[in-house]
Amino acid sequence: MPAELIKKLQDYKLVKQVRYVYDNVKYYRDLMDAKGVKPEDIHGTEDLHKLPFLKKDDLREAYPDGLLATDKKNCVRIQSTSGTTGKRVVAFYTQNDVDMWEDCTARAIVAAGGTEGDVCQVCYGYGLFTGGSGLHGGSHKVGCLTLPMSSGNTERQIQFMMDLESTILCCTPSYAAYLSESLKERGYKPEDNKLKAGIFGAEPWTEEMRRDIEKNLGIKAYDIYGLTELSGPGVAFECEEQKGMHINEDHFLAEIIDPDTGEVLPIGSKGELVFTSLDKEAFPLLRYRTRDICVLSREKCSCGRTFVRMTKPLGRSDDMMIIRGVNVFPSQIEAVLLNKGYAPNYQIVLDRVNNSDTFDINVEMGQEDFSDSPKDITLKEKALQDAMKAMLGINPKVHLVAPKTIARSEGKAVRVIDNRKRYGITI
Ligand code: ADP
Ligand code: ZN
Repeated sequence: MPAELIKKLQDYKLVKQVRYVYDNVKYYRDLMDAKGVKPEDIHGTEDLHKLPFLKKDDLREAYPDGLLATDKKNCVRIQSTSGTTGKRVVAFYTQNDVDMWEDCTARAIVAAGGTEGDVCQVCYGYGLFTGGSGLHGGSHKVGCLTLPMSSGNTERQIQFMMDLESTILCCTPSYAAYLSESLKERGYKPEDNKLKAGIFGAEPWTEEMRRDIEKNLGIKAYDIYGLTELSGPGVAFECEEQKGMHINEDHFLAEIIDPDTGEVLPIGSKGELVFTSLDKEAFPLLRYRTRDICVLSREKCSCGRTFVRMTKPLGRSDDMMIIRGVNVFPSQIEAVLLNKGYAPNYQIVLDRVNNSDTFDINVEMGQEDFSDSPKDITLKEKALQDAMKAMLGINPKVHLVAPKTIARSEGKAVRVIDNRKRYGITI
């Protein structure tokens, strides 16, 4: 569709979506009223800037269903953001919402060369996480033979990949790298598998990692982007050009803003990505701040698609870390420490070993713990580690260290040391 027509479609859908949200979501109606904006003020995308933003905090405040725009009996599905117990966000879907989402992931599979002749091995996690069911639905829509593997059990993944001759692999890039190493260890060469493409996303990865995976698996590796709040993976996807991800603009309207002032920035500027859903029924979001820092481009793409392209997220405008694909906030770690009677003197150390994230937390002991025996300290570390696991959904290594040993710069502790930056991982 030519860009002018896409804009017309967006104008039309936006007016409808704003009216729908205003009439059905009290939480957002209050925000609009507070800003003095009425649905009648929105005639098209040029009026978008008049609308208030929605932030993750709003989603938490409205938890669980304060942003739901339709009766629960019209909904067929709930998904939730990865691993963050204390800060979980739940999203609702009607059948039309699921269809729209699966159309988006189907487009990603087609853009990666997928057809009904393909065997699509989905090893994103199934369940509340959007990766598994999202790619699964898209694979069905394309007509691929779908292998709903879910994550883990590498032995079985490899056996099915070989015996059932998978041609498309869908998983996180770190699992793809792990799988490729596991294949190598078992003596398989890249030409031994039938894979031709991989669709990898949900976490940041680098061009180097892409080249490694492509070489070791003998495939072309495509990026896919999305977030649960908007549906899941497939909000944007890569084409064969592999220069940025096309945003499914008929469903999601993108803006780039200055994260400090909220001002809309011209195309080509680096800033925070903001999305407005255009035709969601259960969980429509207007001007939702993703906190992902990106650049948009309208440069013509050789694939022929006219959808705007976004760069990979280049960073975050909040302090969220993505560790082994799970979103982690320092505030969650502080909450566990305070709950367990520790002062919030801690340091998070992240690194990458064999393409997998390592996650260590150093915690200063109080003077009273310092005199404990090594055995008692080990027990305390274990208890803290279990509490962290329960809160975050992933397992850090917790080290209790002597009081006042965590380096402070200008009196302020450095909370996160992210050695993954060496490998180009910026979030
Ligand atoms: P997921 O279930 O994909 O982790 P969440 O909603 O929990 O989805 O997290 C969404 C966030 O994950 C995005 O805002 C972004 O920061 C990150 N993300 C998703 N896809 C990618 C990708 N392809 N590259 C980098 N980061 C990504
Ligand atoms: Zn393209």
